Amino acid sequence: MTEIRLRFPPSPTGYLHIGGARTALYNWLYARKMGGKLILRIEDTDTERSSEALAQGIIDGLEWLGIDYDEGPYYQTEFAADHRAAAAKLLASGHAYKCFCTKEELEAKRERALAAKLPLGYDRTCRYLTAEEVAAKEAAGLPSVIRFKVPERQGMLGYDDVVLGRIEADYKEIDDFVIVRSDGSPLYLLCNVADDIRDRISHVVRGQDHMTNTLKQVLLYEALEAPLPVFAHIPLTLDNKKAKISKRSHGEVVSVQFYQEMGFLPWAFNNYLVLLGWSPGNDQEFFSRDELIQAFSLERINKSSAVFNYTKGDAKFFTDPKAIAINEHYLRVMPVEELAPLVEERLRAADIWDAAWATEKRDWFLRVIALIRDRFHTLNDFASLGRAYFAEDYVIEEKPLKKNVLPYPDLKTWLPELADRLAALAPFTAENAEETARRMADELGQKPGVLINAMRTAVTGQLAGPSMFDVLLAIGQDKVVSRLRRIDHLFAV
Ligand code: GLU
Repeated sequence: MTEIRLRFPPSPTGYLHIGGARTALYNWLYARKMGGKLILRIEDTDTERSSEALAQGIIDGLEWLGIDYDEGPYYQTEFAADHRAAAAKLLASGHAYKCFCTKEELEAKRERALAAKLPLGYDRTCRYLTAEEVAAKEAAGLPSVIRFKVPERQGMLGYDDVVLGRIEADYKEIDDFVIVRSDGSPLYLLCNVADDIRDRISHVVRGQDHMTNTLKQVLLYEALEAPLPVFAHIPLTLDNKKAKISKRSHGEVVSVQFYQEMGFLPWAFNNYLVLLGWSPGNDQEFFSRDELIQAFSLERINKSSAVFNYTKGDAKFFTDPKAIAINEHYLRVMPVEELAPLVEERLRAADIWDAAWATEKRDWFLRVIALIRDRFHTLNDFASLGRAYFAEDYVIEEKPLKKNVLPYPDLKTWLPELADRLAALAPFTAENAEETARRMADELGQKPGVLINAMRTAVTGQLAGPSMFDVLLAIGQDKVVSRLRRIDHLFAV
């Protein structure tokens, strides 16, 4: 059996976006499932639009996603000799010819064809030049391009697409396409095939937007006497208004980096991406890495376009709600030990990291993560919504302040009194803290909720959260006491 070899060949003319990442993921999954190889090839031949920084961004994005490759990164520009050799081979074997028609001549031919309602493709004038005529034009120094000689065959040219089935066109519909420009540079269409042949690619899994090239490329494989790879064209990703997604119309929300910055878990994002255009054939929604590698197949890639259900919600946070839901799921179920370094990274970035949390206070750190993660959407929430657990400069939100503090001016004396009672507790446990608060509410003739809700506002700044007494324990006796004593500040804002 021939080796299974796939490739991800991004053009570094833009950042890594959802569509590209999904293509990379599908190639990776299939390579891993089949025990094959994945090759990363940066297709940087469009030197004007490509940049090293963009290539690096794509490499970094793949690394964040955990999409590893076995060969590369190769850079297409390093293989110019292969591209020229492929063109020379086609010319020498009679599968291509030099075309001397000028731009003006081509334009005039086109206009005549338009007027006569004839096909608009190149009329193949130069295809039938004799060797002497070609030699004479060359001797005269006339510039030329190289065109591929589409076989004059009856019947249909085609290939079997794993996703879409048989794809065909009449040979007559294929134009004698240019493969080398007049400056001698081979066109992308040819470079791409020459590279895939050299890299012994067995499966080409790419977006449907490349299908315009595929039939021509099938001809190139045949003419270059190389075996045809298996083709699988993935449907495009559209937004919920059926528009193609792009940075111009959708902004950063389509770039992978956005999800990294927002604090998505890389595996959760892969899990979201894989379902954007593929289904397991049952209702399983969450997959471990190994499960997904096993479950994945090219045959189950959807034929119709995928929907990136983009909703512009509150300005701070918007994307496909499905992406958020999947991320939340992993935040809840991931082993806390695996989550800890990712939370650490966010706390460091927010400048509220304490080295002790990775050493002598590690148990405490893990307990806090387990306690607070249930309400969070992304890793960034640990530094924002969860800030009170890690720092003193947490925000007192307006809603709980208005609801649970301001209507009760007596809290100015009640909370410091409660602080004194909590300070006296030894040991300080969830149970005796709760008992203390309830007893004091009772003595004051107040509902326990009045003290408990005010306490939550003062200690965490939030309206809701985990059980208040677990929260007190997590934040710690000293900090709780000092935050309750600062109650006057809350009335001052
Ligand atoms: N370089 C192309 C792109 O970035 C990929 C072409 C291919 O997969 O054949 O879209």
